[in-house]
Amino acid sequence: MKNLLVGALGTLLAFQLLTTTIAQRREKAVERPLRIVIVTGGHGFERKDFFAVFDSFSDIQWEERQQPQANEIWLGDTLQKYDAVVLYDMWQQITEEQKEGMVSWLKEKGKGLVALHHSIASYQQWGEYTRIIGAKYFLSPGKSPDGKQFDRSQYYHDIKFTVKVADKNHPVTKGLPEQFEIVDETYKGWWLSPNVHKLLLTDHELSDPCVAWAHQYGKARVVYIQLGHGPTAYNNPNFRKLVHNAIRWVAGRE
Ligand SMILES: [Zn+2]
Repeated sequence: MKNLLVGALGTLLAFQLLTTTIAQRREKAVERPLRIVIVTGGHGFERKDFFAVFDSFSDIQWEERQQPQANEIWLGDTLQKYDAVVLYDMWQQITEEQKEGMVSWLKEKGKGLVALHHSIASYQQWGEYTRIIGAKYFLSPGKSPDGKQFDRSQYYHDIKFTVKVADKNHPVTKGLPEQFEIVDETYKGWWLSPNVHKLLLTDHELSDPCVAWAHQYGKARVVYIQLGHGPTAYNNPNFRKLVHNAIRWVAGRE
């Protein structure tokens, strides 16, 4: 009888342990959704199709901030509850205070930044932005940080080109095929920092070779994705996967 009781107790204990472990695992599996701010303004785009990209991410809650008000996010503790910012604006005006806020949010707090497409041409007069993004698109002729003279950069619409994954082991390219086709706008004749980690390449003659990269800015992870002009990119499953992976990675989820 005593043995039977001990045995039953033991089984009960083991069962309880097992259910606790399962509950803990389940808790771990259900992650809090990531909160992001998407900055827009200064360049037109197909709103419905663009935001459908972010609606397709079940683990991401997004809010849009439009310029010129959008740059107020960099002030005070506005961004405290957010995990990452996605830049899809093409904007030139920013106050010294807003610049400081953006730099410290990234450098010191180590929050994430994903910069998409035309955001590479923002803040032409602010050298630090070139360091944040890791590149500069020249809206007018100028000098790169390493002293090279550049003409105005060029863009080409509706180009069908092949994108090749440069680092298949990086979390941002996870799940992407080794190469894929996309119809999108290409950029040519812009400056890329030699210190970025290249993620996607193309050999199309109307594009510069690197079309996505990752790098570190202070404590922050930054990803730039050149793709994303319009619906042909927004609706490309590989573009969506890339943007999703990038947000998760810069937010420290991978
Ligand atoms: Zn564009």
